[in-house]
Amino acid sequence: MSKTFYIETFGCQMNAHDSEKVIGTLERQGYAQVQDEADAGLIVYNTCSIRDKAEQKVFHRLNEYKRMQGEGKRFAVIGCVAQQEGEKIFEKAPYVSLVAGSASYRNLPQMLDRLEAGERRITGLDDRQTDETFETEFTARTNPHRGYITIIEGCDKFCAYCVVPYTRGKERSRTSASVLAEARRIVDEGYTEIQVLGQNVNSYRDPSGRMSFAELLTALGQMNGIRRVRFTTSHPRDFTRDIVEAMDATPTLCDHIHLPVQSGSTAVLQAMQREYTREWYLERMSWIHGAKRDISITSDMIVGFPGETDADFEQTITLLGAVRYDSVFAFKFSPRPNTPAVAMEDSIAEEVKTERLRILNERQREIQREHYGRHLNQVLECMVEGTNPARGQVVGRSSQNKTVNFVMQPGQPAPAVGSYLPVRITRTLPNSLVGEAEAGPVFVPEQRQRSPLVVLQ
Ligand code: SF4
Repeated sequence: MSKTFYIETFGCQMNAHDSEKVIGTLERQGYAQVQDEADAGLIVYNTCSIRDKAEQKVFHRLNEYKRMQGEGKRFAVIGCVAQQEGEKIFEKAPYVSLVAGSASYRNLPQMLDRLEAGERRITGLDDRQTDETFETEFTARTNPHRGYITIIEGCDKFCAYCVVPYTRGKERSRTSASVLAEARRIVDEGYTEIQVLGQNVNSYRDPSGRMSFAELLTALGQMNGIRRVRFTTSHPRDFTRDIVEAMDATPTLCDHIHLPVQSGSTAVLQAMQREYTREWYLERMSWIHGAKRDISITSDMIVGFPGETDADFEQTITLLGAVRYDSVFAFKFSPRPNTPAVAMEDSIAEEVKTERLRILNERQREIQREHYGRHLNQVLECMVEGTNPARGQVVGRSSQNKTVNFVMQPGQPAPAVGSYLPVRITRTLPNSLVGEAEAGPVFVPEQRQRSPLVVLQ
């Protein structure tokens, strides 16, 4: 087997960051990454099981790989579907040689040794009891402008519809000292923006007892060289007021909180086992709305959960108006294997789910169209992420995590990826902002000055 690999990643930022760790580990083992699967000796498929029909999609993709078997290639399936389906993957796709869930990535070097020695069925599947986090100093940093740090892995919440507690194991946090040391390394590599990650990032409990989550955010935000700190995903049950206070006191903590509500109805929240009520959630919203800064709020929502009545759904719609989200990711309920919701009667007709999703998205779009208007004529600091040559625009991101497409002043040089510059907003759209670069100061991190602009499609 040639020591080259191709990796394909599906799913959330946690998965994207897991792939960075896997890439770093493979490179440490002497493998070289290639961009074309045809050139790879090892094809790694990092899977996600959160969405409808995830398993079918995985097997469909594996079927496409099938045509490459016999070319001296090995196939590895990792991530949530690997953990969930386990050895069944070998039965359905016998050309796969390695199946590993995220809690066993720490053992990847040994698994790779066995693969190279010719073993054909290697598993790394953990039960929920693991205490291990997958931390490695060999993490490859593939995002050109944002460094990710996992501070907590796993989940102890067991929402009725979700597979994560079964695929990623119990909650386990890293010490604040190791998180801060990794942040220091990232900053020394030239990153000015970091994003701390966790399935429930604010459920963080420092094993050394030194810092709360809000104190850790503050310490990261105060680190010399850091300009932006983001965090995802927060859980309403563990969302405390000191997080908002930390944001108010620390300008480098970005003006954005992703706090998934899932439903506006307390009855549905209870059925979902979300461990909070509508009122609990709205109290947290009042803290955020009362902050000194204009913090954008985003959320995830599920429509058509078993038992959701028209009145329950109406509660979700009224919640949209009460919170005025900057963005909502809404989905129709579909039962995921091995979750308690599978045993519930999926009582809502598909057409009703579809119609509720349409109503929700339409209402949210109206809110966004109006709510984004508050940015008109504001000057926002934007970090440059790339360029869109077809439109002659630079693509940036505001502290509020909004995409800002803007033009430079005549004669102004094209900015480097990762640089920050002030942009006056001249037009607002429901999902993005449009503007012009101001003549004001441009901040270019030292190690980013020679980065070429990447072209974004
Ligand atoms: S909090 Fe609920 S939705 Fe989030 S990962 Fe845990 S079980 Fe899944």
